[in-house]
Amino acid sequence: MTASVPAQPRHPALAAADPELAALVAAEEQLQADTLRLIPSENYVSAAVLEASGTVLQNKYSEGYPGKRYYEGQQVIDQVETLTAERARALFGMDHANVQPYSGSPANLAVYLAFLKPGDTVLGMSLPMGGHLTHGWGVSATGTWFNGVQYGVRRDTGRVDLDEVRDLALAERPKLIFCGGTAVPREIDFAGFAEIAREVGAVLVADIAHIAGLIAGGAHPSPAPYVDVVSTTTHKTLRGPRGAMLLSRVEHARALDRAVFPGLQGGPHNQTTAAIGVALNEAATPAFCSYAHRVVANARALGGELAARGFDLVSGGTDNHLLLVDLTSKDIPGKTAAKALDRAGIVVNYNAVPYDPRKPFDPSGIRIGTPALTSRGVPGSEMAAVAEWIDRVITAARAGDEATIGAVRAEVKELMAGYPAPGLPVA
Ligand SMILES: *Cc1c(COP(=O)(O)O)cnc(C)c1O
Repeated sequence: MTASVPAQPRHPALAAADPELAALVAAEEQLQADTLRLIPSENYVSAAVLEASGTVLQNKYSEGYPGKRYYEGQQVIDQVETLTAERARALFGMDHANVQPYSGSPANLAVYLAFLKPGDTVLGMSLPMGGHLTHGWGVSATGTWFNGVQYGVRRDTGRVDLDEVRDLALAERPKLIFCGGTAVPREIDFAGFAEIAREVGAVLVADIAHIAGLIAGGAHPSPAPYVDVVSTTTHKTLRGPRGAMLLSRVEHARALDRAVFPGLQGGPHNQTTAAIGVALNEAATPAFCSYAHRVVANARALGGELAARGFDLVSGGTDNHLLLVDLTSKDIPGKTAAKALDRAGIVVNYNAVPYDPRKPFDPSGIRIGTPALTSRGVPGSEMAAVAEWIDRVITAARAGDEATIGAVRAEVKELMAGYPAPGLPVA
């Protein structure tokens, strides 16, 4: 698409100082407005979160923690961080919150630094089964500096088998166990994992990056009663700025704080801290609860509509915000499907499915999620239309029918125009 600066720029100082980048920002705004964004880790933040992320708080260095800084002039920043951490503790029901991690991956690395020595064993879900790189996968620092042992899901159910996890834990005696992942369509049994962790004396981490917003909104059970540490990004279902948090029981607070700073990071991104605070305040409202429940209802409805059109869903459906679709029976590789959908204005990502016979860079599935469309207010009654578009585009892609793909793109744009996105200019 061509980038152009609108007559009345939304970011006037940026447009005047750097028309080239201003045009790119405007083009991205247009793209996010016009497309059906179905990547489960993405969302639209509110205008308030967007404003907080663009404040002068970013001008301040504040290495350390409130009351114990290495730079002066922290009269305001200390209050920003304290308030945000208090909101995080209250919302997730944990003793301690560190709101400084730059993103989810560094947050997880801080957990390793807090509890493990190089070479120690970590038990996590394998990446191609739905886990995250940072849960001990080989190409990640967490799988090269530590001994990553990986569990998966059962071939017949597509679900985690806690008996397998327990057997692995007893055989390998990990010091750290991760539960949670990036392509897990089912509820996580925190209590079941906690029992295993207790049995082997491991620290249990719930990585709720994907489902933090569902937990905050009461649409997924909370890990708080069961786990030692909660790690989460703030920018997925939680609908905050790009960032992360580590929450924990009081006995682990010091180790985690020291791991984040000075162990791994320098100065925190204070503008992000403030925006996290704004998002946490939003997440404590009845409107957010309603959003969280609608995210799940929309994913269930979309899953039902896709299944009715012959799509295979890993585990047969979903309990949360995401669907993992195995396209083997549709005779199209995941990447080909994802690229065709993108041409139709439907943005998904290609993804490995459990026991995928294809290569990670060209796997058998696509991953679909409903947080972003729900944030725009698209109702469950539209999920049949969404499934129908996906079906039409995939059929058209197999036939090389670009005209149909173009026609769907126009229909998608028309629907999205009826549901203005938070934080974006109304066309
Ligand atoms: C997204 C995600 C992360 C990493 O977050 P980044 O901010 O991309 O580094 C970690 N764990 C899980 C389960 C995730 O889904």
